[in-house]
Amino acid sequence: MKKIEMKNPVVEMDGDEMTRVLWQWIKDILICPYVDLKTEYYDLGLVNRDKTDDQVTVDAANANKKYKVGVKCATITPNAQRVEEYKLKQMWKSPNGTIRRILDGTVFRAPILAKGITPYIPGWKKPIVLARHAYGDVYSGVETRTAQGDRAYLVVEVENGEVKEKLLVQDFKNGGGIVQSVHNTDKSIESFARSCFNYALDVKMPLWFATKDTISKKYDHHFKDIFNDIYEKEYKEKFEAAGIEYMYTLIDDAVARIVRSEGGVLWACKNYDGDVMSDMVATAYGSLGMMTSVLVSPDGNYEFEAAHGTVTRHYYKYLKGETTSTNSVATIFAWTGALAKRGELDGTPELTAFAKKLEKATVQTIEEGKMTGDLVLLFKSEGVTPVKLDSEAFLKAVAEKL
Ligand code: NAP
Ligand code: MG
Repeated sequence: MKKIEMKNPVVEMDGDEMTRVLWQWIKDILICPYVDLKTEYYDLGLVNRDKTDDQVTVDAANANKKYKVGVKCATITPNAQRVEEYKLKQMWKSPNGTIRRILDGTVFRAPILAKGITPYIPGWKKPIVLARHAYGDVYSGVETRTAQGDRAYLVVEVENGEVKEKLLVQDFKNGGGIVQSVHNTDKSIESFARSCFNYALDVKMPLWFATKDTISKKYDHHFKDIFNDIYEKEYKEKFEAAGIEYMYTLIDDAVARIVRSEGGVLWACKNYDGDVMSDMVATAYGSLGMMTSVLVSPDGNYEFEAAHGTVTRHYYKYLKGETTSTNSVATIFAWTGALAKRGELDGTPELTAFAKKLEKATVQTIEEGKMTGDLVLLFKSEGVTPVKLDSEAFLKAVAEKL
């Protein structure tokens, strides 16, 4: 068989632990036999990040800007224990954080549905796609501890240093405490809004956006205003033509509505809400191993990855020579997402078609009863008895289907 040609490379960011093992197997078993794979390779494994003083992460993000499409393996975000384990020069920052800062944009997370895997919330019949703003708020917050007698202010200066505003945050006269300040920018919120409106139109899903503007009358209210302005001016007609709606509500109301809904909604969340709610949504759909994630930047860059981590517990078993049954579906879909987008941007429909076939083969393999251990307990389908496969055997079963 003649392999499918690629015009331009995708940026390949390798990672750590069990997902690094799966990464190689996915390429060997499912992609390279069919596609003449062109990638620009960056090793974001912790060993190489340490060796390059984390320059490799910055280089990979910049390459993602240049080539528009990247695919990333899960990576370790070091903590004190990892510094010890890997004898690191320092506690390097989260690679995902670095990439998001460089690309800006919005993270969209979508569950992969397969017949037989019933969500923990049985009313959810369609996917809920979660759009997480990937800039600012508490993730670039400034915080400190205060002592009794301290007074904390929020101070804003104009360019020449003159104080424009000074607001008392708290007078700690009755005892010390903590204080935090957070920010966002109009530019980032505007691009978040446009990314969400565009994505909703792309996938023809209604868009819900929620904050706590009744309590946060300036900060959260500003998010609401920016979304409303952009919607009225640029998207209202397009939404009406597509037959979808935009709804703003309070975050607590949104949570209640989501639980009662049947899915089929694009749910836009501020950074922290998105962090928390995406793990809730992923888990409720069945398994962390079935959630994909894509970072879309306002200037049209795409970075695809699985939503889960490096699956450390399985990796330690693997190192002892034991077989594992680790779910590779989200990582397969990271690759197919990147290849499909590459094909779309390059005008190579064979590549996009291959990616769609690989996705279909993956889901069908599960629906026919072949799956990894995390899914076996969840699987219920009349006349189909689920069989637990090890990590490599599952990939081979998908290859056979493909
Ligand atoms: P994790 O790797 O997502 O795994 C947590 C647990 O969830 C696993 O032990 C496993 O449960 C289950 N699980 C997750 N993915 C699975 C899969 N594909 N197949 C089967 N089971 C799966 O999270 P973690 O253990 O908290 O973090 C491990 C490392 O990943 C950390 O160093 C963290 O920094 C990093 N991390 C990276 C990213 C990223 O790069 N995007 C995201 C999150 C975490 P059982 O053990 O019960 O089987
Ligand atoms: Mg999280």
